[in-house]
Amino acid sequence: MRYLIISDIHANRPALEAVLKDAGSFDKIWCLGDMVGYGPDPNECVERIQDFDHICLAGNHDWAALGRLNLENFNIDARMASAWTQQELNPATHEYLEALPTRVGQGDFTLVHGSPREPIWEYLLDAGLAAVNFRYFSTRFCIIGHTHIPIIFALDEVRDRCHTLIPSYTDPIPLGAYRMILNPGSVGQPRDGDPRASYAILDTDAGTWEPRRVSYPIEITQERMRARNMPRRLIRRLESGR
Ligand code: ZN
Repeated sequence: MRYLIISDIHANRPALEAVLKDAGSFDKIWCLGDMVGYGPDPNECVERIQDFDHICLAGNHDWAALGRLNLENFNIDARMASAWTQQELNPATHEYLEALPTRVGQGDFTLVHGSPREPIWEYLLDAGLAAVNFRYFSTRFCIIGHTHIPIIFALDEVRDRCHTLIPSYTDPIPLGAYRMILNPGSVGQPRDGDPRASYAILDTDAGTWEPRRVSYPIEITQERMRARNMPRRLIRRLESGR
């Protein structure tokens, strides 16, 4: 099976479309959450993903859009964008987001938004935190999103060490030797300094994880955000990828 792995679309329809086009053929989509929040097209993105056989997890911004979280935990820009998203959601999108699970097991893979220890909130940004989190899932692999940074944590069980792998876009990474926590990065708001949409292709027959990037018309998303009076910092960060 060939899976398109995406996360943190954040209502950025042009970025989502660029990924769908660039991915080539795939059997199924696994989406690690945060379909909405920040971007201008929450309903359109939720509608679009339903054209495909897919599993989607709940993220903190999805819950915020449903009013399930106290927005005081968000910074001012995220709070404004969440309040706007809450107003914007149509009943069908609301119902879709309400039904999203926080954790799903699929064969060798556990899927969560943040971390296996705290699926909605925890940010796995370093090998120390990742090492602890390997105890919170029993499958060989866990796929996460939330940080908007493509990264892989690999656990060497013999030496009891956790390594960080920064993805290379030239060679697919073989799966098998180590247990891994894999993050495809963010489709709609990358934060690793590369503004291109980030995603991955998981090929379970070949046993590979292929990190990928694709350019999209950032200015179209920015224009739609401006038209909705969204915070300037959120508009600008799309072109810096920070
Ligand atoms: Zn996010």
